Amino acid sequence: MAKTLILGGTGEARALAQRLVAAGQEVITSLAGRTASPVAPAGGLRVGGFGGVDGLVRYLTAEQIDRLVDATHPYAAQISANAVGACAASGVRLLRLLRPGWQEPEDAPWRHVADISAAADALPHGGTALITSGHGGLETFFARQDCRQIVRLIESPVAPLPWFMTLLLDRPPYDLAHEKALMVAHGVTHVVSKNSGGAQTEAKLEAARALGIGVIMIDRPAYLPAPEVTSVDEAMASLAR
Ligand code: NAP
Repeated sequence: MAKTLILGGTGEARALAQRLVAAGQEVITSLAGRTASPVAPAGGLRVGGFGGVDGLVRYLTAEQIDRLVDATHPYAAQISANAVGACAASGVRLLRLLRPGWQEPEDAPWRHVADISAAADALPHGGTALITSGHGGLETFFARQDCRQIVRLIESPVAPLPWFMTLLLDRPPYDLAHEKALMVAHGVTHVVSKNSGGAQTEAKLEAARALGIGVIMIDRPAYLPAPEVTSVDEAMASLAR
């Protein structure tokens, strides 16, 4: 029977592990270890980096993995590149499960930026930004004391935030009424977001559109070519072939 390694850290990875285990397959999910108490996936679990492409190749070989599903977050570019390199080097079959991005509304275009640093540069002087891009690179925004920043995270940051930032700890899913109320209560003028896709956090974009609030969108990174599917159903069908 084929043995599958899932690179996880997303809801899709958990759902795929569940489906494969229910189908009687041997599955190991790998997590980076960024979250203090992650939801345990179905099947096996390992935590922590592999040590680059070479480390991942060693792991695939030692564990006799037949196929690797990269179901990491769309912005986890390094591990996705490592997966391509390690599968090419080891001959293990690779499948990338990448959820589709959100669609930009024609009547309310986003301001597109390439990375966190460009997003920090794009913050409005004297405005109030809702920062929803997560922990990675958060310190890049610290230089913009001229803009009030509401930072929404699931877990507290390691270091305290500077005085001009307000921390909101909350957990998706968020609905439209919640997002509108939040933006109005804080006088938000701009939302900073990654184009993560998925239904859990999309309401912030609908709320911004409804309230005429600007969206600063950090575009997705480029991916190396790999066989790709966009849903758990498609992944199951592909793995069955
Ligand atoms: P990254 O920049 O692509 O990866 C950095 C390093 O972390 C990798 O080189 C690898 O270390 C290790 N790593 C990442 N994902 C791993 C996994 N699933 N299993 C084992 N090692 C992993 O990744 P990131 O953006 O920091 O994201 C880390 C994790 O958080 C991912 O699993 C991702 O799905 C999840 N996540 C990320 C975001 C985001 O916005 N980036 C959002 C939600 C969830 P080695 O080179 O030592 O193997």
